Amino acid sequence: MLNLVLFGPPGAGKGTQSEKLIQHYQLVHLSTGDILRSEIAAKTTLGLEAKKLMDQGILVPDEVVIGMINSKLNANPDAKGFIFDGFPRTKAQAEALDELLKNKGTSITLMLALEVSETELTKRLLLRGKDSGRPDDQNEEIIRKRIEEYNRKTAPVAEYYKAQNKFKGVNGVGSIEEIFENLCRSIEGK
Ligand code: AMP
Repeated sequence: MLNLVLFGPPGAGKGTQSEKLIQHYQLVHLSTGDILRSEIAAKTTLGLEAKKLMDQGILVPDEVVIGMINSKLNANPDAKGFIFDGFPRTKAQAEALDELLKNKGTSITLMLALEVSETELTKRLLLRGKDSGRPDDQNEEIIRKRIEEYNRKTAPVAEYYKAQNKFKGVNGVGSIEEIFENLCRSIEGK
């Protein structure tokens, strides 16, 4: 199986590149942000609770997202592999993911980290906010909070994969095609 973690701060291009990677490698896309937004749209209790945190740019509790990933893994027993987008975002999530995959006789192949400067991220997110309608993309203060959450809680997750020799950084600035080619090169070089 090819199991990829697509990593990077909000606005790094994880969603865009995931779409291309899932087509190219026939992977199942698991984005915790997308799953949470569909829970919000369906007005489930989980969605409504999560929305309060998401609107402030704060991470939702680990057990909530771990539970969601567990159900999606179980729902896709025949997958060739998975692309984890926006997950794991804490060390506890990374450890839980290893355990879930181990129980299925598989593991993470590689973490690919999209590297983009903070100024470029804010610019991209504000632009995306105009089109996507996502409330957390429309306010500069919330964007700052999300980047701060990323730097404090999520960036350390890279160390977890570096320690396993599974980390590769990729320049996240350039055309969508250029970045995609760099990602493919990293995957195939593994
Ligand atoms: P994203 O679409 O990945 O930018 O996620 C949007 C928001 O959903 C984040 O700001 C968090 O509030 C929440 N979220 C998404 N994925 C996770 C995760 N793995 N752990 C905790 N919170 C998450």
